[in-house]
Amino acid sequence: MVSGAAALIASAARADAPGLALDGRYQQGGFAFGRTSPRAALAIDGVGVGQASRNGLFVIGFDRDSAPIARLDVANGGGDSSQQIAIEPGNFDIQRIDGLPNDQVAPTDPELLARIKAEAARKAAGFASNVDADDFKDGFVLPVQGARLSARFGGQRILNGQPNRPHYGSDLAAPIGTPVRAPAAGQVCFAETNLHFDGSLVMIDHGQGLISCYLHLSRVDAVAGRRIERGEMIGAVGMEGRATGPHLCWRMKWRGRNLDPMLMVGRRAPV
Ligand SMILES: [Zn+2]
Repeated sequence: MVSGAAALIASAARADAPGLALDGRYQQGGFAFGRTSPRAALAIDGVGVGQASRNGLFVIGFDRDSAPIARLDVANGGGDSSQQIAIEPGNFDIQRIDGLPNDQVAPTDPELLARIKAEAARKAAGFASNVDADDFKDGFVLPVQGARLSARFGGQRILNGQPNRPHYGSDLAAPIGTPVRAPAAGQVCFAETNLHFDGSLVMIDHGQGLISCYLHLSRVDAVAGRRIERGEMIGAVGMEGRATGPHLCWRMKWRGRNLDPMLMVGRRAPV
């Protein structure tokens, strides 16, 4: 189901530049799957973002705070293409809470701060994974069956006028122990238990810089460095780390941009 405005944008974007086919959700936190020549060089707003796969497939993402227009340049040896993509604003839940005491809940214990820093460095290595693959091409299914979407991507609390970091995941609430399965194939690029904020965390590299993340797991079955197929067990729903109830926080990142994974469910790369 698409709204009238979204349908218009999608149909406008279907008049793709020569040698280029795109399909996706053109909104903040959204993405496009594309097909062009094998190994064509890609740039967004003049900045290189790698090459299409050996099959000519690629993915690009639009950050939560993306500008209203993105320009995609595809250089494929003579037949270069350029396309403007109109990005609709995201509809994010913003909550203002005023009159709070100003001593925020930020950790100050040096040992804990050192631990958080070390965990962040290991996670950064996971996010930097860049497997030469296009495992996103058949699209994504939900990683948890029968879950309730308890918090949408992009929500933000503004405490005493200070904006907190936005929520960069889609929270899928389900009982502890509910299986979490790979929503698309890929290579596991991070699998650790007991992180301070994220609890047990798994990341999967789907190729072309697209990394999906699974937080607060009560059990981890995925093994770092191994390939995982769609439907294979990643682990189980939990509430480890900073979580107020059992849920899977499902996140998606593309080359440093935070995407809404729910927008990818049911979409495929153009054929
Ligand atoms: Zn979350």
